[in-house]
Amino acid sequence: MATKSKLIQQLGVVAGFESPQVELEQYRTPPGLAAQLVHTADLQGDLQGQTVLDLGCGTGILALAAALRGPSTVVGVDIDAGALSTARENERRLGTTTAVGWVRGDATRTGLCPDGPTTVLTNPPFGAQKGNEHADRRFLETTAEVADVSYSVHNAGSQSFLEAFTRDQGGEITHAYAAEFELPRSFPFHEEQRRTIDVEVVRVDWA
Ligand code: SAH
Repeated sequence: MATKSKLIQQLGVVAGFESPQVELEQYRTPPGLAAQLVHTADLQGDLQGQTVLDLGCGTGILALAAALRGPSTVVGVDIDAGALSTARENERRLGTTTAVGWVRGDATRTGLCPDGPTTVLTNPPFGAQKGNEHADRRFLETTAEVADVSYSVHNAGSQSFLEAFTRDQGGEITHAYAAEFELPRSFPFHEEQRRTIDVEVVRVDWA
């Protein structure tokens, strides 16, 4: 298995959002965090030979990282066509071993029926913007419908909500770790050039 540091280096070519849309909460996962999540999933045996779905894939960093780790199929779903065209360009730059299918649509109404054991990776909208409240819950509900296992990124402090919510949906959190998410200044209302927010990453067993 390739190392995590090699993966971080490879993901350096993955471009973020050209013109991020605030109402869609478009923030690209930094390469270090994406590599950590995907490397952990690989160590757990959740990628090799699996169907991988990246819900709200944006410019594709999670799907692309997974596509370097021997899955049978990878599909990224996002509602924003511009983000998907950057994702396609990122795929060309990175040169993954498994091709990624990019699908435009509402990730919470995919109608996707993945074949075989399925791992969902998602850094969903956190539901922090007006009009998009509870977006994270809808992403988790969809994940519960299609995944055997999932890895998702959430605001720090969500753990007790996540435990109760996943239990209600028939899942169990098996792993959780804290991470830092460095946000470059993306929107006019951001006051600093950069800001680090605390997040948590959870692995859920839905089987
Ligand atoms: N997963 C990417 C992007 C995270 S930002 C990464 O890790 O870099 C959240 C993404 O969710 C954005 O790309 C946004 O366009 C997408 N999104 C928001 N609501 C959505 C919905 N209902 N269906 C599909 N994608 C959605």
